[in-house]
Amino acid sequence: MTDRPHPALSAADPELAELVFAEERLQAETLRMIASENYVSRAVLEASGTALQNKYSEGYAGRRYYEGQQNIDRVERLAVARAKDLFGVEHANVQPYSGSPANLAVHLAFAEPGDTVLGMSLPMGGHLTHGWGVSATGTWFRGVGYGVRRDTGLVDLDEVRELALKERPKIIFCGGTAVPRTIDFAAYAEIARESGAVLVADIAHIAGLIAGGAHPSPVPYADVISTTTHKTLRGPRGAMLMSREEHARALDRAVFPGLQGGPHNQTTAAIAVALHEAASPAFREYAHAVVANARALADELLARGFDLVSGGTDNHLILMDLTSRKVPGKVAAKALDRAGIVVNHNAVPYDPRKPFDPSGIRIGTPALTSRGLGTDRMSAVADWIDRGVRAAGSGDEDALAAIRREVAELMAAHPAPGLPG
Ligand SMILES: *Cc1c(COP(=O)(O)O)cnc(C)c1O
Repeated sequence: MTDRPHPALSAADPELAELVFAEERLQAETLRMIASENYVSRAVLEASGTALQNKYSEGYAGRRYYEGQQNIDRVERLAVARAKDLFGVEHANVQPYSGSPANLAVHLAFAEPGDTVLGMSLPMGGHLTHGWGVSATGTWFRGVGYGVRRDTGLVDLDEVRELALKERPKIIFCGGTAVPRTIDFAAYAEIARESGAVLVADIAHIAGLIAGGAHPSPVPYADVISTTTHKTLRGPRGAMLMSREEHARALDRAVFPGLQGGPHNQTTAAIAVALHEAASPAFREYAHAVVANARALADELLARGFDLVSGGTDNHLILMDLTSRKVPGKVAAKALDRAGIVVNHNAVPYDPRKPFDPSGIRIGTPALTSRGLGTDRMSAVADWIDRGVRAAGSGDEDALAAIRREVAELMAAHPAPGLPG
């Protein structure tokens, strides 16, 4: 791009514009490995920055509380139709502001305050909004958590069944934020049926893999599917709730008027664009490449002696336990950040350390795959992580600076989708 981007913003508010430019540079120069992050396309960015922003549209297409919906109704119907087509579901609600309010809406639809909900506990890889204590879902509802086995790092489905039959939850959540293995939706559905619970598959992390055929779909099994649109699905920050027709009314009422006011129409438009992109053959290739990269990277890390929770990965993410390296997760994450590799510190199952200072880091391949890096680059990435973690342990800032230069060089050869320049 030759013209300077964001001319109106630069003229009106140079101070803020500089911060945007700085963030764009940072995203261009670094190896972004936060498993929940990605790069959206220029088309998605453009759709989310339109005049649709100006419109109030409380309600649903054809049933609004404000006039002037001639175009907005068509935008929302398009997004809904594309979601239904892509995932093969009977009903889709594209209005949740993000994944957390989508999950709160699920509670509102299927449980009363004080009712029990069963989900993977946060330190085992689950999400806050599956009934964890500090979340509204865990204070207004009674959250019961299941975990993974200490020996395998895998969900113990016998434990889930036992808990479900004992606690009789209204809702069972499967899925999480640090789950490196394939989710057995059929097994959860069986448990939900036996215990009389609604099964919610939270596919926030893996929606893009499912859309691209690189992870099994929950559609035949789950009563409700909750997802964000901004992780592997590569759309704007937002969320969707999907279900069979039977639950459509309960979900729609929970989102609006239960929890939200006007939908973010510019986001709905960008979701529609992302769903259109995700239906393309190129996206199928992308989804499979994300998994191939993660598998290749896991093998390279194992070869360098790293401990990976569950011994590897089936999807886009890897949970590294740094205990044997004697480097706390946060120290490693901060050192890698200085080396131009952006990750997050993360608890590992049965973590002996505290949640704000845990033993692991979580890494993922969605963003680097969007930049066109392939499996042939994963040995270099593993080397950088290995050198970075060693340098974190020894306090070798020169080594971190050297990695940062090497990373920037590779990134310069792989322009980031959506970013100017
Ligand atoms: C990211 C995530 C969410 C929450 O999404 P936000 O958009 O950050 O609110 C919910 N559930 C799971 C499993 C997630 O990974």
